[in-house]
Amino acid sequence: MSDCIFCKIGTHDIPSNVVYEDDKLICFHDLEPQAPVHVLVIPKKHLTSLDDVSEEDKELLGHIMFKIHEIAESLGLEGGYRVVSNNGEDAFQTVRHLHFHVIGKRKMLWPPG
Ligand code: AMP
Ligand code: ZN
Repeated sequence: MSDCIFCKIGTHDIPSNVVYEDDKLICFHDLEPQAPVHVLVIPKKHLTSLDDVSEEDKELLGHIMFKIHEIAESLGLEGGYRVVSNNGEDAFQTVRHLHFHVIGKRKMLWPPG
């Protein structure tokens, strides 16, 4: 999508602090980190949220989850980490391109706000 900032990060039209990248996804540091480690993992394909995925995206979603585990390991999150995906208005999704927050290196609270 031409006006989507995360699509533009995926194509490097908008710069980001990249942690990992392959042909299907890109992982980069969040601009406003909520913990000592806070990265975002996004598919390069534009999907608005989990509500937007279809049968053909199953492999992509599995790939993202698998890579999140590898990325967490590479970032030294052996003490644990949280994976969050805000979907839609009630969840306060602010960027309408599917993304997974990976947050770590501090003790988390539960329930989330
Ligand atoms: P959400 O509120 O779940 O939609 O999360 C969007 C996240 O994207 C927020 O944590 C923002 O800080 C982050 N964000 C927005 N623009 C950028 C950007 N250009 N580079 C890195 N992170 C960004
Ligand atoms: Zn997009």
